[in-house]
Amino acid sequence: MNIGLDFDGVISDCAKLKSEGAKRLYGVDIPPEKFKKEIVLGEKYLTEEQYLELQQTIYETREVGFLMEPVAGVLHFLPRLIAGGHTIRIITSRDGEKLNIAKEWSSRQGLELDFIGVGGGTSKAPAAAGLDLFVDDDLDKLEPLVGVVPHLFLFSWGYNTHLAEKNIARRIHSWEELHNIIEMLHRA
Ligand SMILES: [Mg+2]
Repeated sequence: MNIGLDFDGVISDCAKLKSEGAKRLYGVDIPPEKFKKEIVLGEKYLTEEQYLELQQTIYETREVGFLMEPVAGVLHFLPRLIAGGHTIRIITSRDGEKLNIAKEWSSRQGLELDFIGVGGGTSKAPAAAGLDLFVDDDLDKLEPLVGVVPHLFLFSWGYNTHLAEKNIARRIHSWEELHNIIEMLHRA
């Protein structure tokens, strides 16, 4: 199958890094499961300026960027999908140095992946054409893919549990679950 994956929140886990960064930069305790812009600003943990500065530190500073952790199970199940003959395309909003960090981090994890960096605020739909399924942790990124990609999945995290995904995507909770669904779709 032609499988498309988002990077942040599907392959890498930045939420913990953002939480640690907020503590270090501003002395504010924000649990990782709350790390979504609208929640952090909405609950007034940080100002918009602080949030942007934090994002820049996490995504564009090499020494911090490389500290992201792989999402649980990805290093086990993603290579299995590749070995099983599936094609993987990473479609991320990262571009420029942010994209370079993601590519280099992936290589260091032993993942050789094809990346398309569409840039922030840009629809992933053109890059997702021809995919059988796509996985993202951001419901806003999945919405424009309805009718473009047959199977859409929302990777579930604390910061997106409040969103109603029903008419857009199916919620998955782990890489194991995702792997099993892909194998099931593949056999069908
Ligand atoms: Mg993401």
